[in-house]
Amino acid sequence: MPDAFADLVGQDEAVETLRRAAAAAAAMLRTAGEAEVPAGVDPGGGMTHAWIFTGPPGSGRSVAARAFAAALQCVHGTGCGECPGCHTTLAGTHADVRLVVPEGLSIGVNEMRALVLRAASTPSGGRWQVVIVTDADRLTEAASNALLKAVEEPPPRTVFLLCAPSTHPDDISVTIRSRCRVVPLRQPAAEAVAEVLVRRDGIAPDVARWTAAATQGHVGRARRLARDPQARARREAVLAVPRRLTGVGAAFDAASALIEAAEAEAEASVAEVDAAERAALETALGAGGTGRGAAGAARGVAGQLKDLERRQKSRATRAQRDALDRALVDLAAFYRDALAIALGAPVSPVHADTAEVAEAGARSWQAEGALRRLEAVLACRAAIESNVKPRIAVEAMMLALWKG
Ligand SMILES: [Zn+2]
Repeated sequence: MPDAFADLVGQDEAVETLRRAAAAAAAMLRTAGEAEVPAGVDPGGGMTHAWIFTGPPGSGRSVAARAFAAALQCVHGTGCGECPGCHTTLAGTHADVRLVVPEGLSIGVNEMRALVLRAASTPSGGRWQVVIVTDADRLTEAASNALLKAVEEPPPRTVFLLCAPSTHPDDISVTIRSRCRVVPLRQPAAEAVAEVLVRRDGIAPDVARWTAAATQGHVGRARRLARDPQARARREAVLAVPRRLTGVGAAFDAASALIEAAEAEAEASVAEVDAAERAALETALGAGGTGRGAAGAARGVAGQLKDLERRQKSRATRAQRDALDRALVDLAAFYRDALAIALGAPVSPVHADTAEVAEAGARSWQAEGALRRLEAVLACRAAIESNVKPRIAVEAMMLALWKG
């Protein structure tokens, strides 16, 4: 049976909460008639105007937000997955559902103000205006304040759905948090992820099982690994690192290779969009015109192109960091495997295909050495997160992995 929540893997509790709230929201609309939702409507279903979806990367924060948005726009109020409200919301084309995906390192204040303004208008479909912010932890302080104002004095038919790794004050301001209902999501089990890859994406069961394990239950990454040969090649290159660390020179080489691979991956992922954006802007601005006033117009064009280049540079930096982080997560899992083996822990390895190398490592390093290496990888992630230059952080990590 189709269902707006079908892609939300292994999150039964959250789905239950959201279904109840959607039903309560539908009841509010029925009793409200045309105008505002009247005071005193039964809040039993826990419907409220601002929500935060938290959970580790890959747990499905934005999937949950979108599914809930569909249920709110569903003509049956259930998230049937089939009616026009569900369908257009899930396809990303519903007029009353706005999705904010930060492209650079943070969501700017202008973007947020424009959004808040539009969100205050009457829903064209007669149900709700829904605003989804996929990485609310990446709002700038000014943008966060603009959002707070809207959340504090919500327009009657507007619902804000924010996604963030956690409700820690570093991720979401305490004042916004205090006005939202929190839906915690967990890391889905690898079996649940494999099941959805088979059912929804038609991936062979054995492939689905190993990619789900290798990506530690990250649905999007598991699907990419199953489908994209380049993603598999990148993962193999990262997992070859431990074997290659034979000396100082090799450690620096491995650092360069890792950084360059992340840069190449990021470049490939943004190049097409960048070129299309630039072409569109140039066409819109009539660049290259030679008529009267073209010189004056060209100065304005140059300014706008500069703006675009700034935004694109920010997006490229973000893509690079994300690519590098994915590589570090894979590498950390390798040392976690070695640690588990050294401790004799009864858990299956994340990377079944490098289990033998991890075993050899466990024998020579012992648990202590495996743990130190795992910590070196995690310290590198933390350093990059706090803006240490990636090359410096990765070189320090490689040296630590070699020396142990
Ligand atoms: Zn529906």
